[in-house]
Amino acid sequence: MKKIGVLTSGGDAPGMNAAVRAVVRKAIYHDLKVSGIYGGYAGLIKGNIEELGLGSVGDIIHRGGTILLSARCEEFKKKEGQLKGIEQLKKAGIEGLVVIGGDGSYRGAKALTEHGFPCVGVPGTIDNDICGTQFTIGFDTALKTVIEAIDKIRDTATSHERTFVIEVMGRDAGDIALWAGLAGGAETVLVPEENYDMNEICDRLRKGHERGKKHSIIVVAEGAASGVELGKQIRELTNFDTKVSVLGHMQRGGSPTAFDRVLASRLGARAVELIIEGKGGRAVGIENNQIIDHEIADILGGAHTLDTNLLRLSKELSI
Ligand code: ADP
Repeated sequence: MKKIGVLTSGGDAPGMNAAVRAVVRKAIYHDLKVSGIYGGYAGLIKGNIEELGLGSVGDIIHRGGTILLSARCEEFKKKEGQLKGIEQLKKAGIEGLVVIGGDGSYRGAKALTEHGFPCVGVPGTIDNDICGTQFTIGFDTALKTVIEAIDKIRDTATSHERTFVIEVMGRDAGDIALWAGLAGGAETVLVPEENYDMNEICDRLRKGHERGKKHSIIVVAEGAASGVELGKQIRELTNFDTKVSVLGHMQRGGSPTAFDRVLASRLGARAVELIIEGKGGRAVGIENNQIIDHEIADILGGAHTLDTNLLRLSKELSI
């Protein structure tokens, strides 16, 4: 093995740059050349490939987004697109590829490996919804952003004695809502993994109001309900002054936390080792502070589960 490649794909996440840096530096440490593929699988098909030196990843560890850019690419879901990608990789002299992204990106990495081109996956997504790892790169930073927003909203909610519905990202996974709700002291957390009862939510709000609570905060994952709709229903059912805040894409940006930078550095470096060891088709993760790896096929076959103990705790503490 003389040269490897690295790309970022799918939804971006803070910490992807730290992972790219780790891949490049670790490869060079092992006397390998390394190329960056710009614009995910779409860039790969077009051959947007450039060799990266030590300095090219300097001054990026603290930056959000991804210097390699990211994209979604329908063409890559088909065999012809994947074979075009392999042609470009071979033309550039690349013999193994590190793919930083989410589930969809892992599917692409699996397909390339099945066509004989070894790829290793690194979990980069704010949603924390990838199997085979306790944490994904970007989750901790997104939580920090959401908690900062909740704290600020709490100030104004208290001044005006209002109920606030805060909608956060998470189409299929409630991790951001749950962790941010617990850390932000929300009265109610709604996640896509669990049905909710509108009457119960309103009863809780009324009880809080009766015992003199100055404000109420409801954190809802976008996949559980629309924040705007929920706010409307609460207003109608309780008559409480209810405002809605949809946090949106701000959750995907920002400088990565120390946790995400360290996680990205460890995962990126391990991915390079796996490529060197000839273990294509695997993806790295963290479990009990140990860096581990699994077959991508197993990861894609499994279902991400919400921490039900944490959900119970969040309910117990918000009575
Ligand atoms: P994420 O990686 O964040 O889950 P997406 O689901 O959008 O994001 O996937 C990113 C890209 O991965 C897609 O645009 C596509 O190019 C590629 N991809 C997704 N699914 C497949 C698939 N089944 N086979 C090959 N490539 C895929």
